[in-house]
Amino acid sequence: MAAKFRRKVSITGNQDFLDLKLKEPVRIAAGALGVKEALRHSFKEMGVARSMKALSSMNQHDGFSCPSCAWPDPENPSKIGEYCENGAKALADEATTAQVDATFFKRHSVEELSQLTDYELNKLGRIVAPFVLREGSIHYEPIAWTEAYALIAAELKKLESPNEAIFYTSGRSSNEAAFLYGMFARAFGTNNMPDCSNMCHESSGVALSETLGIGKGSVKLEDLYEAEVVIVAGQNPGTNHPRMLSALAKCKENGGKVISINPLEESGLVNFKNPQHLKGWVGPPQSIADIHLPVKINQDIALIKLILIKLAALDSIKNDIFDHEFLKTYVAGYQNLLDNLKTFDEKLLLAQCGVSKEKIEETVTLLAKKSKIVVCWAMGLTQHKNGVANIREYVNLLLLKGAIGKPNAGTCPVRGHSNVQGDRSVGIMHFVNETLNKNIEQFLGFVPPKQEGYDTVAAMKAMHDGAAKFFMCLGGNFLMAASDTTYTAEAIQNCDFTVQISTKLNRSHLVTGKIALILPTYGRSEKDIKNGKLRNITIENSMGQVRQSRGLLQPITDAIRSEPEMIAAIADTYFEGKHSMNWKAMGENYELIRQKIDQVISGFSNTEHRSKGAGYYLPNNVRELDFSKLPEGKAQLTINTMPEHHLEKDEYLLMTMRSHDQFNTTIYGLDDRYRGIYNERRVLFMNQKDMHEAGLAAQDVVAIRSEYDGILRTAPRFKVIPYAIPQSNLAAYFPETNVLVPFNHFADKSNTPISKSIKVKLVKM
Ligand code: SF4
Repeated sequence: MAAKFRRKVSITGNQDFLDLKLKEPVRIAAGALGVKEALRHSFKEMGVARSMKALSSMNQHDGFSCPSCAWPDPENPSKIGEYCENGAKALADEATTAQVDATFFKRHSVEELSQLTDYELNKLGRIVAPFVLREGSIHYEPIAWTEAYALIAAELKKLESPNEAIFYTSGRSSNEAAFLYGMFARAFGTNNMPDCSNMCHESSGVALSETLGIGKGSVKLEDLYEAEVVIVAGQNPGTNHPRMLSALAKCKENGGKVISINPLEESGLVNFKNPQHLKGWVGPPQSIADIHLPVKINQDIALIKLILIKLAALDSIKNDIFDHEFLKTYVAGYQNLLDNLKTFDEKLLLAQCGVSKEKIEETVTLLAKKSKIVVCWAMGLTQHKNGVANIREYVNLLLLKGAIGKPNAGTCPVRGHSNVQGDRSVGIMHFVNETLNKNIEQFLGFVPPKQEGYDTVAAMKAMHDGAAKFFMCLGGNFLMAASDTTYTAEAIQNCDFTVQISTKLNRSHLVTGKIALILPTYGRSEKDIKNGKLRNITIENSMGQVRQSRGLLQPITDAIRSEPEMIAAIADTYFEGKHSMNWKAMGENYELIRQKIDQVISGFSNTEHRSKGAGYYLPNNVRELDFSKLPEGKAQLTINTMPEHHLEKDEYLLMTMRSHDQFNTTIYGLDDRYRGIYNERRVLFMNQKDMHEAGLAAQDVVAIRSEYDGILRTAPRFKVIPYAIPQSNLAAYFPETNVLVPFNHFADKSNTPISKSIKVKLVKM
């Protein structure tokens, strides 16, 4: 038997240290420096004229939506510029004029390219033609579009069962592309549709569905402006959702208070200068968080329980702290929760959460008399074994205070990628939805599969075990986004055929199946023209608002295709033009796709017209105080058990996080100024007392190791940086540390990886 061919590709790239520079962290977010950085990146990648044209259109009503995070736009976007530094970086990144073409791939093999860092790979530029990596080859070569479609169709036909194929979606896609993609997967015969939300907010979806009856947040942007208290938990908006700071600043101007709950005190929640206003340039900075609670990693449940116990004690005096009328009418489980809270020892909770007694008293005093409370959160709550329970505990606080279903109060899970919420809404999901299936039969004319498909964790395992052989990705960088990089790489390399629909090169194009295809597509800022007509797509932001997005830049080349067009062409080739859906027509005319979305997806209606301008909100039962889908027809208070992390003396809990120059797995640069780190990503943030006890000095080099189920995983060569982080806690950047996250340890019920609480040891090198 011939030896199995495996390309010698690196899953990390070069791990040599760069030129680390440490400076005082910048403690003011945005301001002139933010604008300078935004323009520096833009001009460097796109030139001045292209930059100014694109920036003036981003997040405007008749323009295109920022390709970065999912933060909503105000009703009337500022004409000066409705974007942040990271939005500008994301735009510069996709609209760069650098190109990866056939000559480039002829010159460089995938083995050679894989030695580059993720940062260096991203800088190579836009992919300008479809390419194939043939079996046994280490060089991509050009392929015609029709040949690429035929190759995909042929590979799909070779499979013994549709469930040997997996269709992954990242949050960059439009509603139109995601809808077609999800329907093609079903028409092909599988629900194997893992998506990026499996890795981030799935815990939020599960917790919110269980307690409030919808897996999405309940607030609108305007609700933050006049909230009395906004709690920002496990989230770093200064880097990850920067325009959220304008909303928090507005809340403060209206007399609201902000509480930050996070192991690190991030600069964006300390001070902010809004460059949209004159005083953001010449005046003093605005302070954001009134109270910062430096909770230990994954001890939010202990903290919130302690706060609830203290609020309950105050309420027992005059019945005026909790909203009893609201609880009686809309909420189940009140007495159970009160009884359960009595079983906890306040001193133990205090020690466990690591926050000072004084800060907790200050928080309780503030919350006691307020009822317009918004809780915002991100991965700091979701990526733990008890990620679902974390969110349920915060929902308990909101329900007890009656801070749900009324203006300026409610839940706000802040989504990381611009259309991650929309992709799920229009049908990207691995589970079976009866209503959706019925609508598919009625309006699309085929019978969708009834068997639940693979989520991300199950998909990795299926590929690793050889149960799945075909892996297609609609955007993203699955290898670097998923947990357990080594395992994931083995899983992908086990596949016979992998396909990436992409704009730029990343490591997922280098660590591939036996045969690999790259199908290049438009950036969101580019014009999508067909038959002389400028087409628009739609997206849904973090607050359930659907709006249209239309690019205005000349595409990098005529040789690329839009996502809906290529998905439609693949489906049409596979079905040989014989299917109940008219794929070809929909690939050309997105209005036809939107008509089908309106028919098939509950909540969407007249999207063609309503998505114009500021767009429209999808229905949200929490805003209507309608909990009829839940037991007793009421919102649910829940009993949540405490997480258990038994740490030995030489063990720590590690949280992975982004630098300020990064968006998900895309590395824009090497400047994390809010933490004072420049020119290096292999750094480990550590409490100074812990360093002393471990005999470590600043910039000592360590290997980080995790051991789960007897398997040792190592992330070598990290420089230790003394930092204000609770004792026994560590922080480091992903994707470099994803290699430590065991693929088979994830959140109960949601399967979200435990990337924010990995038990590790350090070995001095
Ligand atoms: S806040 Fe998010 S959506 Fe808005 S401009 Fe910044 S990165 Fe883009």
